[in-house]
Amino acid sequence: MKTETAKQGRETMTKKSTGKNLDLSKEFHQHYAPSLESREIVKIAERYELFIGGRWVKPQTKEYFPTLNPATGEVLSQLARAGAADVDLAVKTARQAYTKVWSKTSGRDRSRYLFRIARLIQERSRELAVLETIDNGKPIKETRDVDLPLVAAHFFYNAGWADKLEYAFPGKKVAPLGVAAQVIPWNFPLLMAAWKIAPALATGNTVVLKAAETTSLTALALAEICAQAGLPDGVVNIITGAGETGAALVNHPDVNKVAFTGSTEVGKIIARAIAPTKKRLTLELGGKSAHMIFADAAIDQAVEGIINGIYFNQGHVCCAGSRLLVEESVADEVVRKLKKRMESIRVGNPLDKNTDIGAINSQGELEKIKKLVAIGKQEEGEFFEPASGTLPSKGYFHKPCFFNRVASSSTLNRVEIFGPVLTITTFRTPEEAISKANDTPYGLAAGIWSEKGSKIHQVASALKAGVVWANTYNKFDPTSPFGGYNESGFGREGGRHGLFPYLEVK
Ligand code: NAD
Ligand code: MN
Repeated sequence: MKTETAKQGRETMTKKSTGKNLDLSKEFHQHYAPSLESREIVKIAERYELFIGGRWVKPQTKEYFPTLNPATGEVLSQLARAGAADVDLAVKTARQAYTKVWSKTSGRDRSRYLFRIARLIQERSRELAVLETIDNGKPIKETRDVDLPLVAAHFFYNAGWADKLEYAFPGKKVAPLGVAAQVIPWNFPLLMAAWKIAPALATGNTVVLKAAETTSLTALALAEICAQAGLPDGVVNIITGAGETGAALVNHPDVNKVAFTGSTEVGKIIARAIAPTKKRLTLELGGKSAHMIFADAAIDQAVEGIINGIYFNQGHVCCAGSRLLVEESVADEVVRKLKKRMESIRVGNPLDKNTDIGAINSQGELEKIKKLVAIGKQEEGEFFEPASGTLPSKGYFHKPCFFNRVASSSTLNRVEIFGPVLTITTFRTPEEAISKANDTPYGLAAGIWSEKGSKIHQVASALKAGVVWANTYNKFDPTSPFGGYNESGFGREGGRHGLFPYLEVK
């Protein structure tokens, strides 16, 4: 009874605070004048080479491929396609830099370089945010307020460990592994590069990183920053190309460590290829994370949390809260409020500071999402997308949407969509919520909304997920380890845990 009253109270408050009914059935965007971030600050070259040994090196393949702005379809630049010979040169260069320079550089000096890189990132953060938005399609609000601060924070945090490794693993002897081969996806291009490069350098390894083929520009800017910071040549090498380049890199016989973030499918291929070798491996793969709302939760905040959990970054988030589980008694209220809130989500030009949902990263991804939504419409479940707002006529865009009352076994509830698509099911008891949440081949993250601390602890400890958020979602911090269970991969990035995969600990 008490909860009912509290909830009613909240509803009245919301009504009061929103004042008159806005007519949200009309196009919402008309309430806002565009507020475009200028792209003047960014200079994009017509063509980029490979960054090997501190220099820009032409690919021996002599081949280049375009990178696009997914919000307009415009070709931004041409990137070098690294072939086997280029990968070999990059790995040899990293090896040489390791043996001759980096393995002899003190922790204190490594720390200095990392601090310098971190500060340069901060200095150039507006430029990097705009560049990321143009190349990836994610809203400027996110690149500016989420990605870039985190990128700098990862370098600062790891800089702090570089000269204190013996304290990170007390009583143990630690040594770097050598050359790290790192392959990253397109959803957080610069942030994933930071997650990979910062701990590798802090622990004394050298790096060959392959950026994702649709979003390499910020990684190439980071290469420039490494040079600007005076980092010794060959300590960080950045190459571009698609899956074949990635495969050549992880399969190169002279790498000691492979760090991969991407799809479970490719992760499995890599795991199989590496199994018979002595290479160390960490995998950060896909997810289908459950976001749970209990009846005693602060519903309005929870609705905001769901929105952030699934629609943040167009749903291009490995740990997106893509499966919503709601306690039955509040399901109607949650769905009603979610619909209302979704009418005011702004989809559009990623450079507009008001934009909540930007462009889908590529035509291929957009088609994949549309195909899954079409499957969802044939399965049981009620489809909802906001009536307000029109999508831009150019570029790759998708409205946020959800499927309510889906069957637990439905395709949409099981397959990773990697787009702004949510599924909703209900539960009656915490036990049922836990078993539904764990009923997935993945196990990257989960979210719990409840006002009751004991329930949060009980549920969190029963969840098979690498990260569990309580009364919040998609919050990241370099001090906190991140990683998955089961088909979401293994190994942790971030925190003290994130140093371990790059060290021999004896
Ligand atoms: P993807 O696996 O297709 O590509 C990821 C990277 O691997 C790209 O750089 C690609 O060029 C490269 N690659 C492709 N084939 C390869 C091969 N055979 N050998 C080596 N490298 C190869 O994934 P994607 O579509 O770019 O990214 C989306 C996926 O990444 C989603 O499944 C998402 O969940 C996952 N992801 C996971 C995390 C995490 O931290 N767990 C973070 C971001 C993305
Ligand atoms: Mn691009």
